[in-house]
Amino acid sequence: MSEQYDVVVIGAGPAGYAAAIRCAQLGFSTACIEKDKGNDGEPTLGGTCLNWGCIPSKALLDASHKYIEAKEHFADIGITASNVEVDVPKMIARKDEVVKGLTGGITGLFKGNGVTALYGTGKLLANKQVSFTDHDGKETTLEAEHVILAPGSVPVAIPPAPLTEDFIVDSTGALEFSEVPKRLGVIGAGVIGLELGSVWNRLGSEVVVLEALEEFLPMVDERISRDAKKILTNQGLDIRLGTRVTGAEVKDGAVEVSYQDSEGEQTLQVDKLIVAVGRRPFTEGLLAPDCGVNLDERGFLYVNDLCQTDAPNIYAVGDVVRGPMLAHKSSEEGVMVAERIAGFKPLVNYDTIPNVIYTHPEIAWVGKTEQQLKADGDNYKVGSFPFAANGRALAANDTQGSVKVIADADSDRILGVHVMGPQASEIVAQAVIAMEFDASAEDLGLIMFAHPTLSEAVHEAALGVAGHAIHMINRKKK
Ligand code: FAD
Ligand code: NAD
Repeated sequence: MSEQYDVVVIGAGPAGYAAAIRCAQLGFSTACIEKDKGNDGEPTLGGTCLNWGCIPSKALLDASHKYIEAKEHFADIGITASNVEVDVPKMIARKDEVVKGLTGGITGLFKGNGVTALYGTGKLLANKQVSFTDHDGKETTLEAEHVILAPGSVPVAIPPAPLTEDFIVDSTGALEFSEVPKRLGVIGAGVIGLELGSVWNRLGSEVVVLEALEEFLPMVDERISRDAKKILTNQGLDIRLGTRVTGAEVKDGAVEVSYQDSEGEQTLQVDKLIVAVGRRPFTEGLLAPDCGVNLDERGFLYVNDLCQTDAPNIYAVGDVVRGPMLAHKSSEEGVMVAERIAGFKPLVNYDTIPNVIYTHPEIAWVGKTEQQLKADGDNYKVGSFPFAANGRALAANDTQGSVKVIADADSDRILGVHVMGPQASEIVAQAVIAMEFDASAEDLGLIMFAHPTLSEAVHEAALGVAGHAIHMINRKKK
């Protein structure tokens, strides 16, 4: 039996569902195949992001932040809160409700826009055919004019720390603990390690983070990564750099982790261990040998800047292709491909992808770091402004961090903006817009920002590039 569609999408994460919705909006008959089932065993749309990634982790980050605020910081602002307690099962259940609401929202968007959701597994065959196997094992061949591959990514596993049912878990398991582990180990001081390490640290775990590299957050602007390490350490994360995990064994209801550092062989006893050492593209069972799509040397689906694979009319988008593994990058690629199929000419600007680490304070940036510019031998100017001098941050009792604007020394064009501070994830959007419009630091300095807002720190940092931030002492007369 075969069915005909203009577009078949494999994978309903942010890359695939955005592509499918946009294709349907553009008038194409569109089917989207998704194999995942949610925590309730029912088919679910939304991919890693909605089910096991961005959304559930932020639900727990926001909840645990509120808890630590109530417990440790309300007193600073004149609120007495006694007996502040955590109900972990309730917190997890609420997280599941948020997920359910949003994944159900995608089901609604598919229905409303006319996307056919096919629950099961897709495999790309030759000649733009896709084999679809539903959850009962029934196979159908789909004929398509265009196929968009969006199968996403999965956590990297490391041989010294094989996952177990309950003790050694990946990020998905770390979103499901039924109680606060007294001692928690995390392998990897990357984005997931710091976000989920922060969640459980706030809720009461003693957290040790083992990171292989000697450097902390090498992709973050150096000054900010230095400050972030201090702040997160003060919050209670015991971050051990330059460690090599050699084994992890479950013994008597706990995990014994062995690792090497500059002082030799060490062991660490923890109640749970999270392995968060990166993600890899997921292509298992996706491609028939004669489908014409190739992988690159790192196992990603090979695509050009327009997300075209080596096979005509076959595209790949999201975590499964080169570039940062981020939900917004994935959806933008999905939408670009849909619109290109319709004959429009959008592009994804890979130079203005915002990055955020949702610790508290948040760390967010767009564009180049100072160390990258130095390494490239570029001439640049820097302006920065601390939240400790920002009225709104002071009013909110949330003053850690700063904004740093880096501009080209000659043209003044903004090359990078780096924020650590309250709502950095929201603030960085202003920098993305400015950079998309090729703004100079002077342009940002000439724009009026509402007072009192955290965003005024962006304004001041931009003024600082030319040395005339208003709320800083500057004795040079110009
Ligand atoms: P996915 O979301 O992985 O979706 C791919 C889908 O394809 C999956 O549902 C999978 O089941 C399905 N699939 C695969 N193969 C097949 C097949 N053969 N047939 C049918 N279906 C198939 N990013 C951010 O930008 N911000 C964040 O705050 C953030 N937080 C994160 C937190 C965690 C804990 C994790 C793990 C990730 C986080 N990410 C975050 C990353 C983000 O989740 C991914 O970048 C994003 O989900 C990638 O989207 P995608 O559509 O490419 O892939
Ligand atoms: P990551 O690449 O951010 O960090 C992995 C860390 O583990 C690195 O610092 C790496 O040096 C370290 N590492 C690797 N092997 C190790 C080993 N054997 N022992 C000790 N340390 C080791 O990866 P992640 O944190 O797993 O996240 C995966 C992806 O998911 C990221 O690429 C990110 O783009 C995405 N994500 C994004 C967000 C966000 O946007 N806020 C949140 C979570 C995840």
